[in-house]
Amino acid sequence: MSLFVQKYGGTSVGSIERIEAVADKVAGFRGQGHDMVVVLSAMSGETNRLIALASQIQERPDPRELDVLISTGEQVTIALLTMALKKRGYDACSYTGGQIKILTDNAHTKARIQRIDIARMRDDLNGGRVVVVAGFQGVDEHGDITTLGRGGSDTTGVALAAALNANECQIYTDVDGVYTTDPRVVDSARRLERITFEEMLEMASLGSKVLQIRAVEFAGKYKVPLRILSTFEEGDGTLITLDEEDDNMEQPSVSGIAFNRDEAKLTIRGVPDKPGIATRILAPIGNKGIDVDVIVQNVSAADGTTDFTFTVHRNELEGARKLLEAVSTELDARGVVVDDRIAKVSIVGVGMRSHTRVASRMFEALSADNINIQMITTSEIKISVIIDERYLELAVRALHSAFELSEPRAAG
Ligand code: ADP
Ligand code: ASP
Ligand code: MG
Repeated sequence: MSLFVQKYGGTSVGSIERIEAVADKVAGFRGQGHDMVVVLSAMSGETNRLIALASQIQERPDPRELDVLISTGEQVTIALLTMALKKRGYDACSYTGGQIKILTDNAHTKARIQRIDIARMRDDLNGGRVVVVAGFQGVDEHGDITTLGRGGSDTTGVALAAALNANECQIYTDVDGVYTTDPRVVDSARRLERITFEEMLEMASLGSKVLQIRAVEFAGKYKVPLRILSTFEEGDGTLITLDEEDDNMEQPSVSGIAFNRDEAKLTIRGVPDKPGIATRILAPIGNKGIDVDVIVQNVSAADGTTDFTFTVHRNELEGARKLLEAVSTELDARGVVVDDRIAKVSIVGVGMRSHTRVASRMFEALSADNINIQMITTSEIKISVIIDERYLELAVRALHSAFELSEPRAAG
């Protein structure tokens, strides 16, 4: 018999009927003799509702108190599922992150898991009990409640699977696996039977929110077998694999397309084009803990000045703008322009390593639809472009078709 850690997302536990259906599913596995640890999200919409309540009181809610508030959503679902399991005659017990001792650092709203005490879970499992754990939360060394960042229940699931050495961590959600791109944007998107950790990590960090990026990092680091499946339909879902066992040469160049609307662009105009300028511009931003993503420096103008452009998370735009305006005054530059109507579209694939011409194919496809590329950034297995937000869906569809992603993957 196996030990499974199953995580059910917000839509999967979005109503009493759905919680009852999850109880049937979990009971089915337990009935076959498997040891079961179940991690739950809050009911869909609940975390947003709680955040909205907080922001009616404080524009920037106090992080410690926000964590106390938003961790409550998961406490509701774990209790309800446990009742539903008991109603079915199965022994079960629910635990908050603090009860199970999911110890994190104290970075409220984006805490990282440091240690998990598995003794109590092991006792329960040995006693034949289903263990039901609240996702998304932990406690710091002082016992203060922390949360793991949006989508963090995925990370709770993977972390428990790693700590318990589970046979598989199964992420149940409202789609039946990882697709070539978000199936809500491209109808012909295709489910991947498998995807490598490396690709999944890029997809997640470039905006595919089907899995929280930290969950993928954790699974890769601790070699946790990880599968994404549908709560509502039968099927094998998508397995995240460690190896690139398929011969790269046989792999299609691009495996998937990710996108996000979370970034904003800042340009400082007319800065002197001389050594040390990039640091003068970016150091104050970095010192404030603001992450910079794509960076472009234009060629020098005849007067020896240049424009310098970069992107940050939209939430950080105002902070970054203030810092940049101060730099602009210091450097006697021609001022700061910002644009938050941008989107980032990325193509991802380990096969890109061995395929040339991927970039030119991408740019051709975008230009055929008259989509202007504002910035470009590349790594070994991805190419990202910044474009006008209005053309995002058009761009995703154009690229999906240019790289023939609706077709079955080449054999390998
Ligand atoms: P849950 O509440 O179960 O955690 P999420 O909403 O966080 O679910 O993640 C599932 C959603 O991720 C899907 O409904 C889908 O719209 C979106 N998604 C984005 N990119 C992809 C992709 N490449 N493959 C599958 N789903 C994707
Ligand atoms: N409920 C949390 C969120 O909405 C965590 C999760 O669902 O994974 O972000
Ligand atoms: Mg999620």
